[in-house]
Amino acid sequence: MTDPADLIRPEIRALAAYPVPDAEGFIKLDAMENPWPWPEAGRQAWLERLRQAELNRYPEPRPQRLMQRLRAVMGVPDGMAVLLGNGSDELIQILALAVLGQGRPLLSPEPGFVMYRMIATFCGLEHIAVPLRRDFSLDLPAMLEAIAEHRPAVVFLAHPNNPTGNLFDEADMEQILDATDGLVVVDEAYHAFSSRSFMPRLGEWDNLLVMRTVSKMGLAGIRLGLLAGPAQWIDELDKLRLPYNINTLTRLTAEFALEHHEVLDEQTRRIREERARLAEALSGLGLEVFPSEANFLLVRTAPGRATPLFEGLRARRILIKNLHAPGSLLEDCLRMTVGTPEENAALVAALGELLAEG
Ligand SMILES: *Cc1c(COP(=O)(O)O)cnc(C)c1O
Repeated sequence: MTDPADLIRPEIRALAAYPVPDAEGFIKLDAMENPWPWPEAGRQAWLERLRQAELNRYPEPRPQRLMQRLRAVMGVPDGMAVLLGNGSDELIQILALAVLGQGRPLLSPEPGFVMYRMIATFCGLEHIAVPLRRDFSLDLPAMLEAIAEHRPAVVFLAHPNNPTGNLFDEADMEQILDATDGLVVVDEAYHAFSSRSFMPRLGEWDNLLVMRTVSKMGLAGIRLGLLAGPAQWIDELDKLRLPYNINTLTRLTAEFALEHHEVLDEQTRRIREERARLAEALSGLGLEVFPSEANFLLVRTAPGRATPLFEGLRARRILIKNLHAPGSLLEDCLRMTVGTPEENAALVAALGELLAEG
């Protein structure tokens, strides 16, 4: 018998599988999903569209119509190229594979999106984490120093950042773009909830790429992400894309949804409104609520209270994300996705009871 230890890389054996908790029967506020399904009134037209699917055929290798729609809805500047991925996670993986073997790491601020580090590990790349300041702003001197020392192949800047919810200072980001001779990927997964974007600035730097996804807008189930930037980069990355990475059902559904993108715009507008209401209610309970330009809120509890509150909510069938790690920048922190008004009310009521119990 061959032992997995003989074949599987030690850094892979040391990993725990990405934890996705079973949320059956829960109010699910842990994964930044849009809480509203596609409206019933539009579903028949969508199903009609899916009837065209030729499931016996391979998907379109380079879905032009879909790319055109995405370019229009996401405001990709003329002259910039785009690459589609099976979620933006696949695009991060393509970037990592493309730079593998050059002896240069990936770099991102932390706390940040965990997939940057995980995908680096999967690919056998080093990942450099540069701590944010206590207020979750970029530590620009530390970033510039790390960039000079490690010469990262790719710097990832989530804008807004996950799990902190804030936008980084634009002038700091410009300085990072100026200072690095690697790629800088501005990850705008939460663009629908945010006031700023680097998309219109593509081309100002020849090392700037902008990444988007339809997941947080309301289509997490179809897995579709987009990387935009100068063709000299996108053409190279495209060689690594597996030929049929956008399946036919995803393509048809995305084309349909983007033709009716006002439906998603209206839902994301309501989420932004609910975010303000929820932030006020959580502050009213005495929790420290950090400013958010995303569809979730990061809060800090009294010392030692994050885990009991998380568990108390779970016992009441409400699932959020516990980020508490002793001594870390996220000590006593919880992250909660903005849900429907009813879900948010249930969350606030449950937290109120738990906090009153002490
Ligand atoms: C959720 C998230 C993504 C992942 O998006 P998918 O397209 O669903 O893979 C990427 N970046 C950040 C910062 C995220 O929070």
